Amino acid sequence: MDHFQYKDNQLFAEQVSLDEIAECVGTPCYVYSRATLERHWNAFNDAFEDYPHRICYAVKANSNLAILNLFTRLGSGFDIVSGGELRRVIKAGGDPKKTIFSGVGKQEWEIREALEHDIDCFNIESEGELQRISRIAQSLDKIASISVRINPDVDAKTHPYISTGLRDNKFGLTPERAIKIYEQASTDRHIRVRGVACHIGSQLTELTPYKDALDRILDFVDLLENRGIPIDHIDFGGGLGVRYHSEKPPTPSQYWATLKERLESRGHNLPVTIEPGRAIVGNAGILLTTINYIKEGEVSNFCVVDAGMNDLIRPALYQAYQEIVEVNQSDRIVKKSYDVVGPVCESADFLGKQRELAVEEGGRLAVRTSGAYAAVMSSNYNARPRPAEVMVDGDQFHVVKERETLESLYEGEHFIP
Ligand SMILES: *Cc1c(COP(=O)(O)O)cnc(C)c1O
Repeated sequence: MDHFQYKDNQLFAEQVSLDEIAECVGTPCYVYSRATLERHWNAFNDAFEDYPHRICYAVKANSNLAILNLFTRLGSGFDIVSGGELRRVIKAGGDPKKTIFSGVGKQEWEIREALEHDIDCFNIESEGELQRISRIAQSLDKIASISVRINPDVDAKTHPYISTGLRDNKFGLTPERAIKIYEQASTDRHIRVRGVACHIGSQLTELTPYKDALDRILDFVDLLENRGIPIDHIDFGGGLGVRYHSEKPPTPSQYWATLKERLESRGHNLPVTIEPGRAIVGNAGILLTTINYIKEGEVSNFCVVDAGMNDLIRPALYQAYQEIVEVNQSDRIVKKSYDVVGPVCESADFLGKQRELAVEEGGRLAVRTSGAYAAVMSSNYNARPRPAEVMVDGDQFHVVKERETLESLYEGEHFIP
């Protein structure tokens, strides 16, 4: 459930009408709902009841400082994939000591900064990374905490670009290779072995891949114990899906109930860390856009809006479906089928195809489920400033990111003499 609902045929975010936001801030613009963000974070946290757990929000889904700050206030930890994300967490008041560093390509400076801030754990993905972390920890006279990301070789049954747990993905390591890293790590004075990690993909709508992955992880945990290498947590990653269209993803409590049942049936009670991103922020945001032109075509009708693939690339990149709705519903206008397209000079520049909409020029649309992997993936293609971002809080709204200015787009560019 989210807090974007109609009142008298007008779409609202909590108690604020989207028209009001569009008039004050302009479009395109992202609008987030504080109540929805908090509700979703709490749904995960509450699902665990008194089982020892930690929620490390996956910053890459939406790294706006206001969002990170809200989760900080709820007591969240963070999962980061770059030094830039670490800076954002710190800037937002987040605790580096509750931060996990994931990703296959950690650079020297990123590892150094993470160690200087005493982050909780590095989830490492290669032999070379262990060596690099050990060397930098030694130079700083620190002890780095690590988990190894296991690739459990399960099919997450999601889009190939966001499936990460198969043997042929770049992510994680097979158990056979991981065990060697643990053995080496356990003898290294600058490394502390902490846990076992995995993350099998994103937008999962079934629980079976999770069950299969957990079984493989528990096999691995047993193996580690047999080798005398104890761990203090399992990091199960993120990946729970959201409803974009007709999907019926499990709720956080169904998800946790399944995992818990599995853990208990195998006699494990290790603390669990999860790293949800999309499931927390996805449905907490919309992209608000204005219709520039209605262009009736020979084959399709086009609804040309002021938001494009540079603002929201998911439809072009993943053939993603996102619901598009009128901000003002009217019986006066005839419903027709439209391709909702942006102004960018690419045929991939669409937000939705063949959508039944009652629209006219100057009207506004909302692209739903735009809280995750949306604003963070925006670009300046076609010299377009990235959109403003707004957070609604009850009957108030706040600009949490200003629209970029045109001048800022060429700051840092120089002529040659
Ligand atoms: C992307 C990512 C997540 C978050 O995935 P969601 O599908 O947004 O929940 C969590 N952990 C890791 C390691 C990731 O790469």
